[in-house]
This record gives sequence, C-alpha cells and structure tokens, in this order.
Amino acid sequence: MKNDLFINNEWSPASSGDRFEVINPATEEVITEVASATPDDVERAVAAARACFESDEWQNMDARQRGKLLVKAADLLKERMNDVCELETLHNGKPLFESRIDASMASETLRYYGGWADKLGGETIPVNGPFLTFTQREPVGVVGGIVPWNFPLNLAAWKFAPALAAGCPIIIKPASETPLTALAMAEIMKDAGMPAGAFQVLTGGGSTVGAGLVKHPGVDKISFTGSTEVGKGLMRDAADTLKRITLELGGKSPNIIFGDADIKSAVRGALNGIFYGKGEVCAAGSRLLVERSVHDQVVEELAARAARMVPGDPFSKDTRLGAVVSKKQQESVLSYIEAGKKEAELVAGGNAAQVNGKGYFVEATIFDQATPGMKIVDEEIFGPVLSVISFDGVEEGIELANKTQYGLASGIWTQDIKKAFRIAKAIKAGTVWINTYNFYDPAAPFGGYKASGFGRDLGRVALEGYTEHKTVWVSL
Ligand code: NAD
Repeated sequence: MKNDLFINNEWSPASSGDRFEVINPATEEVITEVASATPDDVERAVAAARACFESDEWQNMDARQRGKLLVKAADLLKERMNDVCELETLHNGKPLFESRIDASMASETLRYYGGWADKLGGETIPVNGPFLTFTQREPVGVVGGIVPWNFPLNLAAWKFAPALAAGCPIIIKPASETPLTALAMAEIMKDAGMPAGAFQVLTGGGSTVGAGLVKHPGVDKISFTGSTEVGKGLMRDAADTLKRITLELGGKSPNIIFGDADIKSAVRGALNGIFYGKGEVCAAGSRLLVERSVHDQVVEELAARAARMVPGDPFSKDTRLGAVVSKKQQESVLSYIEAGKKEAELVAGGNAAQVNGKGYFVEATIFDQATPGMKIVDEEIFGPVLSVISFDGVEEGIELANKTQYGLASGIWTQDIKKAFRIAKAIKAGTVWINTYNFYDPAAPFGGYKASGFGRDLGRVALEGYTEHKTVWVSL
C-alpha cells in the first residue's frame, strides 16, 4: 500500500515529514499514515508538471500515443481490480460490490478518453476575405484535480482521463479521508509508461494542498468536485490568477413518483437512489416526491424494504449498506436525523449502528410527511436519509422538484411518456433519469445547474474544459 507523495514519477515523504492517519470507518482502525504535503511539496509538483508540459517529450508525443497510454492504464487498472477495490472499501466503508462498480467505471473512463485523444480536431471557417482560417485545439496547461471522498478513484478518473487525453498534466488532490486509491492509480500510471510529471498525487489538507493548487500561478485549470461551500471559496481563490474552473458541487435531487408509475420499479429506484453509496452520493435522490394517490402504498413498501437493509461488514458479499466515511460524517448525518425527528414522521431507521461492536454506521432512514422549509428537505445530508414529500398533479410536482438551490440530478417515474418528457424539460437539473435512477456512463455528461456548479465531467463536452481553441488566419 503506497502512502507517500507521488511527484515526478517518484515516491517521497512530505518535506516536513508530517503524516496523517487514514481510518477504516467500518472498524475504526488506522489503516496507514499518509504523507501530508506542504506548500513546498505543492511547488515541487507544480514545477514537475510544468516541466513535463513544456518538455519536447510531451509536446511532441503523438495524440494517438497519449491515447494508448490511457488505454494501457485502463488495462492495468482492470488487472489490479481486486486490490484497488479492497483499498476503496477499506478507506471509504462502501460495500465491496460498489467499489467494483466504481473502479470498473474508472477503467472504462480511461478507455473512453483514450479513444478521444486523437480526435480533438478544430474546424475550417468560411470568413470574409482572401483567407484560410481554421481553429486548432490546444491543452489548457497544468490541471489541479481536487476530489471528495465519496467516489475517490472514480471521480478522480472523471478528471484525469479527459485532462491527459487533451494533453494536460494533472495533479490529483484526493480527500484526506480516502487518499489510497489515487496513490494506487499513480503506480498504475507509472507502470503504463506515463512520462514524469504528467500524473501526480499530493495527499494533504484542503486548505494547504487544495487551496495551494487553486492559488498557484503555475496551475492553469482547476477541476473540483466537492461541497458547494468549498466550491464558492475556491471560485474566489481562483479569481486572482483568472484560473479556469469546473465546479461539480452538492445536490438535493428530487425523485418523483407519479400515480401512474410502475410502483414496484419506482420503489426499487427510490431505494437505489438514496441508499446506494450510503447516500453519500452527490446525485442521491434524497427528496422523494410521491403523488398522493399512491403515497401510502409507496411509503409502506419503502419502509419494509429499508428495514431489511441492515448495515453490514463492507467486505461481506451480502452487505448492501456499508459504513459512512468518518465519525464526523456520522455525527453530521445523525444531527440531521435528530432535526428530522422533531419535524417529520420517522418510518424507518433513525439510529447509529455498529457491526461487531465498531464502526460509523447509520441505519437506512426514511422520513414521511416532510415539507419544504424543513432542514432535512432543504439541506444536503449526504447520508442514508430519505425525505418523502407528497404532492398532487404535475404542476405541483414540478414546482416542488425545482424548489431547491441545487440542480444536479432528478428522477421521474411514470408510464406516460409525454408527461415524462414535459417534466424532464421543466426540471432545472443537469441529469434527468426517466424510470431509472443513478446510472452513469463515461460518454454521458454529468454536472449541475444552479448551486450544483458549472462545467461538465464526462462525455465529449468535458474535453472542452481542458482545451483552448486557437484561431489561425492565413492570407491567401
Ligand atoms: P469538500 O468540499 O469538503 O472537499 C472536497 C475536496 O476539496 C477535498 O479533497 C478537500 O480536501 C478539498 N478542499 C477542502 N477545502 C479546500 C479549499 N479551501 N481549497 C481547495 N480544496 C479544498 O467535500 P467532501 O466532504 O469531500 O465531499 C462531499 C461533497 O461533495 C458533497 O457536497 C457532495 O455533494 C459533493 N459531491 C459532488 C459531486 C458532483 O459531481 N457534483 C460528486 C461527489 C460529491
């Protein structure tokens, strides 16, 4: 298990020698102590990234060769899948089957962008006058990729795969709770043949390493996934260097069940929408809007199934609900649950839990009779807590769906396709799932409206964030 900084294709401790503990949230045990990077380490990594970016080796590397390196990394990740998934479960607490889904997507994302590397062409433009005018795509430069703890490797891949495909060296700053799989990825990149400085990992604090990258004049672009609060500060910090930024922020996504839905599928989708990833999912369907005509049936089935989702050992193949990421996160989720108990009706869960007498687990929790204005309805909880809100008819459904500062994702359950499309158009969110929830693909763009941020990860469109368009005029 790697636990040092990865700078310029070499492993080194922090310049101060400082380290911080990484805790297994399911057992409360210390897994390892990871290097805590200092401002000097940030300088070293940025210098190495710039040297790589400006080197003949990088500048003259064929785009197709860059693509091959990404595909090689995808293959190596697949080969080492078991080890990587164990690490992901160890530091995050998610069930092993989820780590497998996430790491497989990370591998597929590398493969997808490996295919794009040699397809980033410009266009010829019919201007007035005797000119040949065309555009070419160039990498924006050195990128800082700052990622949260909920999908540590996968969300990092959403940054490093398109950045490298576009020709941008990237420095990954993982969350302090979950640094181990980014470090495993560094080893994979080196073994794949990635030149020194192209892919680096700095573990350490948000205010030192994260903010250090954001403020550094040698970093051209920051791609951030995390909370709305940190995202706002990051935007301010990025202003002085006019840094390009992409912000993937929080959410409080509506999942809307209409009376004419296939109720069995909708209930399954609602549970998957909130309890997959222990609810620590930016796109979690944490506000379940249920049309009053089917309210009782839906809530009864939800509560019965949630009661069977007992938190368990994340390494057991039967476990569907793992440990939340940390004690701090457990305390935060429990404080929301206490607020909910005062305002709404608890129909499932509502307590902390332990497995073998240890761990930061929270029961699958459902509140009924929730309404806007309640803390559990308005704020992102980021845990396994669902709020059920009743409504009557399409107009009220749309109004409630949009009654949030966020706009990341949404779900619609109905068998009336015209109605579904009309609502999909009216919802202000970056993703709308119709009769499904929580599906992702490297080719499908993902990102937010409103306080959920701007810019997109994934798909062809994400490459826009890592390239400049240069216009060339030739007098004929
Ligand atoms: P966070 O904002 O606390 O931290 C995210 C990252 O930013 C971490 O690596 C952290 O160390 C770093 N950071 C902290 N302070 C910083 C600063 N001042 N400057 C630069 N970097 C700093 O978020 P978290 O608690 O790790 O993750 C949960 C949040 O992430 C939730 O709000 C969730 O909705 C959001 N999220 C969004 C998406 C999305 O795609 N929109 C996906 C996953 C998670």
